[in-house]
Amino acid sequence: MTPFQTFTARLTRSVALSEPTKHLEFEMRGLPRFGFVPGQWLSLKTNKLDGEEITRAYSIASPPGNDNRFALCLNRVQDGFMSNFLCDMKKGEDISSQGPFGDFILRPPLRDTIFIATGTGIAPFRSMLHWLLADPVRHQSKQLWLLFGNRTEKDIYYHDEFLRLAAEHANFQYLPTLSRGSTDWQGLRGYVQEHVSSIVWGRSDMHAYICGLDKMIKANRELLKGLGWDRKSILFEKYD
Ligand SMILES: Cc1cc2nc3c(=O)[nH]c(=O)nc-3n(C[C@H](O)[C@H](O)[C@H](O)COP(=O)(O)OP(=O)(O)OC[C@H]3O[C@@H](n4cnc5c(N)ncnc54)[C@H](O)[C@@H]3O)c2cc1C
Repeated sequence: MTPFQTFTARLTRSVALSEPTKHLEFEMRGLPRFGFVPGQWLSLKTNKLDGEEITRAYSIASPPGNDNRFALCLNRVQDGFMSNFLCDMKKGEDISSQGPFGDFILRPPLRDTIFIATGTGIAPFRSMLHWLLADPVRHQSKQLWLLFGNRTEKDIYYHDEFLRLAAEHANFQYLPTLSRGSTDWQGLRGYVQEHVSSIVWGRSDMHAYICGLDKMIKANRELLKGLGWDRKSILFEKYD
């Protein structure tokens, strides 16, 4: 199997995570096992009715396993084609896929790490964190923080999963932050970049992984560089 081969992915499950967002589960047809590294993405391809070919990248939102399954987490984008096509797919339908691609993957050796995401930028971190925390050898003695920004309570995807992971692992801190949380919200408020300094505490010997839209990534990179971080310690994946 090479990443440039085209495979057919069959939708096995579609779950609405919030109004515009879906969690989609697929299996790669004809493959006993689909191998990838947490953080990698797939290139999905389909044709519009007029025949125009559309190809878009989607991060894999599940950890690798010993089977041919994987998950995606995506938003409907207004006037976009592929995101709406995928969100409208029915169980049993197929899509062409190439990959896995990308080097937004964990850099060994693991350091204390802050993962910063907004919206569906959580996808690669769901893959990385499930993989890391599944085996003590992969994360022992390292502190991990997930700073996850959304607008309101109902937009926090995979909330129960991350709460459970944090309850099970003392070295993993899950920090959802809401820009428009209700008066009842007990967690962090505001944008993700407003909370980074208090987590890194002037340290620059950590890694930061950042995923989501360009504006948020820029704000966090600038902040970390201003705190004296080497740019090689700041890894990012931009969705727009
Ligand atoms: C490496 C990589 C991984 C990605 N992984 C994911 C993922 O896991 N989940 C996910 O939802 N998206 C992901 N994206 C974005 C995805 O590839 C598409 O760009 C997005 O789904 C829009 O495609 P579209 O065909 O519907 O709209 P398009 O016709 O491509 O875009 C319509 C308009 O929306 C803007 N736009 C593009 N992406 C977004 C966005 N995410 N939010 C708001 N506006 C946007 C575009 O600038 C354009 O103006 C990823 C992108 C890259 C490069």
